[in-house]
Amino acid sequence: MNAPAALTSAAPLLYWPGETNRCPQCSGKSWHVGRAAAECAGCGHPLPLARQPETGEPVWEPAAQ
Ligand SMILES: [Zn+2]
Repeated sequence: MNAPAALTSAAPLLYWPGETNRCPQCSGKSWHVGRAAAECAGCGHPLPLARQPETGEPVWEPAAQ
């Protein structure tokens, strides 16, 4: 099957925060988003985040006590 979007098909699979991300394995759209990666809620397939959380976004801090 030839995909018309030949340019985007070569791009690495990344999770884009704020966008609708499709799981490459199960086509699911629900994700557990962590600090460095997102994990598919359906099959557990991990994707690296396309960008790091920006300043001001809630990020879990281990030394908050
Ligand atoms: Zn999945």
